Amino acid sequence: MRALIVEDEPRIARNLKRALETLPTFAADVLGDGMEAWERLRSGEPYDLLLLDRMLPGMDGLEVLERLRESGSHAPVLVLTALGTKEEIIRGLDYGCDDYLVKPYDTGELLARCKALLRRSREHPAPVLRVGSLCVDTRTHEVTRDGRAVELPALEYRLLEYLAYRPGAVVGRAELLEHLYDYNWEKFSNVIEHYVWSIRTKLEAAGEGRLLNTVRGMGYRLSEELGP
Ligand code: CA
Repeated sequence: MRALIVEDEPRIARNLKRALETLPTFAADVLGDGMEAWERLRSGEPYDLLLLDRMLPGMDGLEVLERLRESGSHAPVLVLTALGTKEEIIRGLDYGCDDYLVKPYDTGELLARCKALLRRSREHPAPVLRVGSLCVDTRTHEVTRDGRAVELPALEYRLLEYLAYRPGAVVGRAELLEHLYDYNWEKFSNVIEHYVWSIRTKLEAAGEGRLLNTVRGMGYRLSEELGP
């Protein structure tokens, strides 16, 4: 999943990025200016989560949020702010944010809220994603198949989790590249093929059937094995 952090205090922004990227789920981009953030969002960069500071140069955080919602985006937004009065929190929620966290915040709580927002936005209320005999636990980032532990490096986990949120759907390479990497990565589609190959090898290490399928010319689909 891809997150955008909009925060003008460099130290806080760095810490946020570092915290989010301790989870294999996220690649995170950072912008320090509200107008720049709005331009990025308007350009159609497909963010799965937005962490938005309230007081920003260029454009106020709430205005970024208002424009984002007016553009029709449902992306989950967590507003982070030093403005912790009840009135300010109500205002943030009224502008269309999904959650609100007052600085200084606890990193563990922040990450738990990010994961909860993601589950809600993916319409997947349970923290464990199941596809056939495969279990992806989004709390612990453990992957098992028929109870057998499958060890995946961060990027492979990120890819598998992304697909496990949408079992049965065909997801194209371009979409995967957009959601698995941050803005500064050079994106090559054969990288995805390599990861898919590597994940498959591990998912099928005990001779199991294929869960992660290639749909020729279209992309990849994670779905239960067909028939005996
Ligand atoms: Ca600020």
